[in-house]
Amino acid sequence: MDARDTAERNGDREGMRAAPTQEDIRRQNLGALLRRVHILGPVSRAQLTAGMGLNRSTIGALTTDLTEAGLVLEEQPRDPGGGRGRPSLVVRARSQRVYVLAFGVGVDRLVAARVGLGGAILDRREIQRPGGPFGVDETLERLAEFAAALSEAAAPEARCVGAAAAVPAMVARDGGELRYGPNIGWRAEPFGARLSAAAGREVVIGNDGDLGALGEHTRGAAVGYDDAVYIHGDVGIGGGIIAGGRPLTGADGCAAEIGHMVVNPDGRPCPCGSYGCWETEIGEAALLRGPGRGGTLGRDAVHAAVDAASRGDKDAEETLRTVGDWLGIGVANLVNLLNPRIVVFGGTLRIVYPATAAQVRSRINRTALATHREHLRLRTAVLGDDAPLHGAAELAFTGLFDNPLEFTSS
Ligand SMILES: [Zn+2]
Repeated sequence: MDARDTAERNGDREGMRAAPTQEDIRRQNLGALLRRVHILGPVSRAQLTAGMGLNRSTIGALTTDLTEAGLVLEEQPRDPGGGRGRPSLVVRARSQRVYVLAFGVGVDRLVAARVGLGGAILDRREIQRPGGPFGVDETLERLAEFAAALSEAAAPEARCVGAAAAVPAMVARDGGELRYGPNIGWRAEPFGARLSAAAGREVVIGNDGDLGALGEHTRGAAVGYDDAVYIHGDVGIGGGIIAGGRPLTGADGCAAEIGHMVVNPDGRPCPCGSYGCWETEIGEAALLRGPGRGGTLGRDAVHAAVDAASRGDKDAEETLRTVGDWLGIGVANLVNLLNPRIVVFGGTLRIVYPATAAQVRSRINRTALATHREHLRLRTAVLGDDAPLHGAAELAFTGLFDNPLEFTSS
């Protein structure tokens, strides 16, 4: 889809452009068919024929090519049904044979996974560090170890076709340089190049909020929604926006830094240097700054704070109410600005949102435009803490879908 749109734009600019060759069309169709099987799971030839608008013999030729390349296999349907004639063969991704490596860098957690074609996490390695952020060198070392262990554990015939990492930082548009991560203190770090060198293969990097949005849009709560906002709670607040079915990137690739919307100019200082950013009002620190919380951060502490409020601890209730209020104010602003059909709460907000849903709704009802909230849905992330990891896997598979056969024959 991207390639076609780029071609259209280039065509506009240049006035004319060579028509795509038969080979270009075949490559696009192979990528589209493979991506469809990857997203939808096992799918019959008949469904592919109907869904892709191609004729039966073309679908047959494409699936044969993909089968010979070792990317899919075809099998008889488990339930052939009672219809007349031969049942349509089912096309299935070869998940164990074709995989990507996906990395997730959290402020206090590192994770790496082998994700098979079809989107299933086949194997994973993870380390928590409640003591605080990881340094760059330590992060690279750990992720390289994880990558080696995951590759070693894969079947001998398995093939890695890409790798990508989600980071809690702004990432330059070309996906290589990490510009700035306020909560991990990294700045102007050529993280993509360094991780590629450490892992021994190219690793593309992306912002964790953007990749969380991609993950939920592909396989989670936002499937089927062309206009969605994903809000990721960690120590800070990240976000990703899908507009018209596509990720909103911004001029530098750094759009959707929703945690740094200023909602309270007289508020607390933010690690970014400003005051009263949304994350200072709804991030973990806001929830855990109440009396008796001891200053510990992390998922367990967020759970404990929400539990205390549900048990009737007055201070915890008061703090949670304030956080819920600010959560609703920020969401209402995003709703007015972007008119999404769905807002998805991920990371630690999966714990906070259900406990404050009434307040969030009430704020939205008071503040958001009636037209914008009429069909608005508010949901927690289906993929849980792994939303950015799944998004990283989707990013890593992009090259395969651009040119499936060349990718596997090289
Ligand atoms: Zn800020």
